[in-house]
Amino acid sequence: MQKKIIDQIFEIWHSQNPEPKTELNYSNNFTLLVAVVLSAQSTDVGVNKATKALFKVADTPQKMVRLGEEKLKKYINTIGLYNAKAANVIKLSQALIDNFDSEVPQDFESLRSLPGVGQKTANVVLNCAFGHPTIAVDTHVFRVANRIGFVKESTPEKTETALMKAIPKKWQTHAHHWMILHGRYVCKARKPECSECLIKDLCRHSEKNF
Ligand code: SF4
Repeated sequence: MQKKIIDQIFEIWHSQNPEPKTELNYSNNFTLLVAVVLSAQSTDVGVNKATKALFKVADTPQKMVRLGEEKLKKYINTIGLYNAKAANVIKLSQALIDNFDSEVPQDFESLRSLPGVGQKTANVVLNCAFGHPTIAVDTHVFRVANRIGFVKESTPEKTETALMKAIPKKWQTHAHHWMILHGRYVCKARKPECSECLIKDLCRHSEKNF
């Protein structure tokens, strides 16, 4: 897709929502990291329900380690894969205490060294906590980017690399959130709401039905 058209699409999203934010609730970098780890293959709404009570008792790595894995599970047992996620949250909290002075590190490799933190999670944290222009590719971003025609790639990893080349620098900091919100509320997986879509005249989706 031509840069000029990509630019126009981001202009529209920007005018509609200049400062898009994650819909996960958090109060500091640590709770952001935990919320993102818990959100893998789960909805933000479901994670927010569970973390509302959890973050009142454990909003630092020390408090999380003191809480312990078994009690943590009771707070998050409504979230998918909660057993594995609980183990990872305790291990990553301990790793933060041992290796990073209890602070969430702000470089990709250090974040990736933490248990349960994959490429997508590291990119979300770098973007939301530190304002790095990373583009984390989750299911919405992967679908939306390829459907609109920003890129044409077969995997999230290739999509991330291609998006970093395709999207003008000035839009990169917020690109991830604009695409997520567009995918969540308009360009839905099964039934995109093309007739209501603000970028329908610019989108390349071949099965548009308007
Ligand atoms: S026109 Fe349809 S397919 Fe294209 S971005 Fe909008 S909702 Fe998605």
